[in-house]
Amino acid sequence: MKSYRKELTFNLPSRRGLVNITPQVSAAVRESGIKEGMVLVNAMHITASVFINDDESGLHHDMEVWLEKLAPEKPYSQYRHNGFEDNGDAHLKRSVMGREVVVAITNGRLDFGPWEQIFYFEFDGMRNKRVLIKIIGE
Ligand code: ZN
Repeated sequence: MKSYRKELTFNLPSRRGLVNITPQVSAAVRESGIKEGMVLVNAMHITASVFINDDESGLHHDMEVWLEKLAPEKPYSQYRHNGFEDNGDAHLKRSVMGREVVVAITNGRLDFGPWEQIFYFEFDGMRNKRVLIKIIGE
């Protein structure tokens, strides 16, 4: 069995933002040389998520609005976590959207269902944040 590890770094210019990272994950699969296996992609920070869904801007807006209803950023005083930090909402948003995804690799390619794409969702940006890609297989 072979394995391959890579980190991606993001520094989004805003507190929240969404990036389609499918091209970077596909590139890592090619670099690994692995034809049959699995790729794990996870946010390495507890205020960001990696998830799979459709690359459609209306849906992305809907997700942002929905998460803001579930865990509004402000007022900061509504969260016990805040005080030293102001990112209580970001921890909750990450819990809803999840930490990681796993995708099968078949014939050296990401074996997606229809319209599936991999996204990085930032909830507390404007600083360097990392995503881990780990690939195993042969
Ligand atoms: Zn925090």
